Amino acid sequence: MTEFAKRVEDVSISGIREVFEAADEDAINLGLGQPDFPTPAHARRGAIEAIESGRADAYTSNKGTPQLREAIAAKYDRDYGLEIDPGDVIATSGGSEALHLALEAHVDPGEEVIFPDPGFVSYDALTRIADGTPKPVGLREDLTLDPATVEEAITDDTAAFIVNSPANPTGAVQSEADVREFARIADEHDVLCISDEVYEHIVFDGEHHTPMEFAETDNVIAISACSKTYSMTGWRLGWVVASNRRIERMLRVHQYGQACASAPAQFAAEAALTGPQEPVEEMVETFERRRDLVLDGLEDAGLEVPTPQGAFYAMPKVPDGWCEEVLDRGVVVVPGDAFGENGAGYARLSYATGTEDLKEALEIIDDATRAVR
Ligand code: PLP
Repeated sequence: MTEFAKRVEDVSISGIREVFEAADEDAINLGLGQPDFPTPAHARRGAIEAIESGRADAYTSNKGTPQLREAIAAKYDRDYGLEIDPGDVIATSGGSEALHLALEAHVDPGEEVIFPDPGFVSYDALTRIADGTPKPVGLREDLTLDPATVEEAITDDTAAFIVNSPANPTGAVQSEADVREFARIADEHDVLCISDEVYEHIVFDGEHHTPMEFAETDNVIAISACSKTYSMTGWRLGWVVASNRRIERMLRVHQYGQACASAPAQFAAEAALTGPQEPVEEMVETFERRRDLVLDGLEDAGLEVPTPQGAFYAMPKVPDGWCEEVLDRGVVVVPGDAFGENGAGYARLSYATGTEDLKEALEIIDDATRAVR
């Protein structure tokens, strides 16, 4: 008998945690991957009313309540003009479970999954957990993913490629032309495009597009969540949208691994999606102002940083020893290599933190940068 499954042997615990553990209690935290806003009141009320009336006591349908799936389908019509059948949606425990379902249901042992490097930490880990082979690929100078790089990396063993726009850790947003290319590649090479769109509503410049708008086959799976849009990371509510045959396969994994997403969270998500969207607009406006502040501060410190067009991260190029120096002076940032080998020499700064703290952190960063130069 083996003690542990080989699949999980090389899955490392996220490097982000190490940074938090090394930090002082009163350090300014630019390491966070979640909005610093409250969940909108109407979303909270959706859950409270469902709990108080007893509607949230029981399992829901495995795919999620019909009302939530209708609200998700209506969102795709509203945002992208896409007609989604509510039967082709699974409500999941966050975007994380949605990624897990997509990979578990589509990757055979040893098959390759292409994803951006630097990229979100789960892509490598979840590929390994699905017994696939991670195939990280580098980014352009502006930190977007070049469709040509993806196309060149495809082999007979490729099961899927993951696209993430707006992106963590870079804040980069893929152009419409790129998104069309991703759809074409999925169609022409008959490989799955897993489109991680959890930051889809946090865009400052340009527009977010999903490859699902442009694909002619059913080779695109769209993943999103309430986590970032509605500041609901703790609620654990996301979803996956795909063709019916793909949904039915992913449901096999979800049904036995999860049964259904948490019922109170489903009611909160339904209320978030169908209620007023002003809290989202206000949050995005705030993030945009902070983005400008951070960009100016980093440039004034002499750091090179592509303009992040979405999410709430900036990823400057940094000199050797910079992250340690900044951390020593009381500002938490995440070293870029926590997001893949190509992230070395960069750092991720999250601006999901108050303006006063950001200003203070930028002054410290200015001093620290001069000290290590
Ligand atoms: N995808 C990306 C790019 C993320 O940054 C995150 C969370 O940080 C997720 C997916 C997971 O989101 P959730 O909290 O909904 O599981």
